Amino acid sequence: MTARILYGKEFAAKIREEARREAERLRRETGVTPGLAVVIAGHDPASEVYVRNKHKACDELGLFSLAVELPETATREELLAKIDDLNHDERIHGILVQLPLPKALAAAESEVLFRIDPAKDVDGFHPVNVGRLSIGEAALVPCTPAGCVRMLELAGIPIDGARAVVIGRSNIVGKPMMNLLLQRSATVTVCHSHTKDLAAITREADILVAAVGRPGFVTADMVKPGATVIDVGINRVAPKKLVGDVDFEAVSEVAGAITPVPGGVGLLTIAMLMQNTVTAAKLQMTK
Ligand code: NAD
Repeated sequence: MTARILYGKEFAAKIREEARREAERLRRETGVTPGLAVVIAGHDPASEVYVRNKHKACDELGLFSLAVELPETATREELLAKIDDLNHDERIHGILVQLPLPKALAAAESEVLFRIDPAKDVDGFHPVNVGRLSIGEAALVPCTPAGCVRMLELAGIPIDGARAVVIGRSNIVGKPMMNLLLQRSATVTVCHSHTKDLAAITREADILVAAVGRPGFVTADMVKPGATVIDVGINRVAPKKLVGDVDFEAVSEVAGAITPVPGGVGLLTIAMLMQNTVTAAKLQMTK
């Protein structure tokens, strides 16, 4: 069997188009242009690339974007004051703090993220949004898992009643993924570094999500024939070579559908950030 390859490009384009249309309608009906502020402290080269891509995506979709750049030496107080300004800035509907923060600010990460007005928390990391997601209320949801689930829907892969297994229990990917799949009536198991007999559990999955951060972790014998395998992992194994958590060559002979790395889930994250910015603007307009 050779799996259907779920290319992120195709689904990211659809999510972006949905966001563009919704933003356009909001502008027509209320005169408001959704706006995203991206806060970056210091000069991490990888972070600078991510931030540039986020502003570019906003430009392409007709969203307002604001770059807030702080020096490596910025203090906790300066960063928190910047967040407070953005919380009150009417042009801004979404605020994202680019991680990782410089070393001197790392201990303040939670405080900084939790200072963001939950209505503007387009990363979905604020406890209010985490809580709302877990009780099934409208929430801003972390972009990567939200993008994966939207991709499954757009690809016509049934979630309702499916047996889903998520490997990884992080707050950014694993746990929100679990909640999103549960909300759509999958039967979900979350596995992690203490899980015993992992392969026996993953072999039951109709939908298998890998968010571990270890190259080639999911091997063909861990996958049920015909399953959908979503590879969230991004692992740099050489200066110019990225691989996922799944042994793509071998698993694509067993799975029914699979996302590649690169070219899979990674592309969905920024598309979903655009969608979250538009959703945040709409929610703020209806308040
Ligand atoms: P994390 O390090 O916070 O979590 C990793 C999880 O894997 C942990 O919950 C841990 O329990 C689990 N794990 C580790 N070893 C295991 C084992 N032997 N068996 C079972 N579970 C094990 O990582 P994260 O932030 O969730 O990210 C996971 C991967 O996804 C990373 O490669 C990261 O780069 C990638 N990622 C990609 C995107 C994207 O846009 N595509 C976004 C976020 C993260």
